[in-house]
Amino acid sequence: MGKSKVTCAKCGGTNVQTAVWYAPNSSMVLDSFGSWNEKDTNWCEDCADHVLLIDEDVVVMRNAEE
Ligand SMILES: [Zn+2]
Repeated sequence: MGKSKVTCAKCGGTNVQTAVWYAPNSSMVLDSFGSWNEKDTNWCEDCADHVLLIDEDVVVMRNAEE
């Protein structure tokens, strides 16, 4: 998995969160809980709303096509 930025589909900001599985006994964050395309598991601090997230790499590819 790459380290590209994931942004809010609504405002384009990077102040976003996504739900993950967390192991309390080992203080480890495991896999993502949902996906970028599932509003329920994502949150944007700037929009203060559940949003879709966009992987920056995909956006770069889209812009290159135009
Ligand atoms: Zn946003």
